[in-house]
Amino acid sequence: MTQLQIFLEKLHHTYGITDAGQVADYIPELSKANPDWFGISVVTTDGQVFNIGDTAKNFTIQSISKVFAYGLALEDHGREVLFEKVGVEPTGDPFNSIIRLDEGSHRPYNPMINAGAIATTSLLKGDGPTDKLNRLLKMFEHYTGHEVFIDMPTFISERATGHRNRAMAHLMLNFGMIDKDIDAALDLYFQQCAVMVNCCDLATMAATLANHGTNPITQVRAVSEDYVRDLLSVMYTCGMYNRAGEWAYRVGIPAKSGVSGGILAVVPGKAGIATFSPPIDDNGNSVRGLRVFEALSKQYNLHMFDLSMGRCIFCI
Ligand code: GLN
Repeated sequence: MTQLQIFLEKLHHTYGITDAGQVADYIPELSKANPDWFGISVVTTDGQVFNIGDTAKNFTIQSISKVFAYGLALEDHGREVLFEKVGVEPTGDPFNSIIRLDEGSHRPYNPMINAGAIATTSLLKGDGPTDKLNRLLKMFEHYTGHEVFIDMPTFISERATGHRNRAMAHLMLNFGMIDKDIDAALDLYFQQCAVMVNCCDLATMAATLANHGTNPITQVRAVSEDYVRDLLSVMYTCGMYNRAGEWAYRVGIPAKSGVSGGILAVVPGKAGIATFSPPIDDNGNSVRGLRVFEALSKQYNLHMFDLSMGRCIFCI
């Protein structure tokens, strides 16, 4: 067994016993998750895969989808057009905050918060709703390396209860920031959030970004190399919501979390890492995930500004 696998097993054992955090229930279907589910996956850019725990358990991707939808929107419109519609500034506010939409330019601050993600998804090209959804699913398939499906109950559950997201879409329509067909945009956003993945898929998706946009296992390109740096930049500054600063300080690699309990992070050029554990903290980040990433970053000197180049296992 490799040293990394042994270390992952140790982390899984150590942090598996914590019972901090709560399973999200504001989307009723998410409350059915088992708080004990816990997986850690690493996929390297040379195609090695390390898994421990519940890494094959399917769950809905939720906010982690925002990174990849932003990549597709960049491919559809280019950097400057998209920048006029959605900014790249961290907010320091919760992911579902509506307050800043009503000030200043009315442009959503960044594509990782809900307002910016809804605006981004509303811009995706396609010949009607089915074509847009198929384009999104195809993109996810390139990242994961296999067919992906939407979890219908979660989609319906969020569509029926996502009043806050609906309110944001109405506010953006009021300010002329998004197109008038907001119901279609919201449906597509709720569908992208309900795409089913497992922990190993998330690590593969992160490894694809680490590998300049090409899936390191299938060798299929998922996103243009030109835009990988855009995705990594907004992940680094905005991916962990109102924990983004502390994450950058303590862990120091681009990452994205979702309320279903997933976190993925990119070690550029080296690997993708993912954790899955449904109990989340007040910021919407998985509690066990945060601990695992802090420990991994420390052990392997993953922080991007750590110049010691010490024990980086991904360098072998
Ligand atoms: N679908 C969820 C929402 O819009 C995603 C939020 C998240 O994962 N942080 O509220």
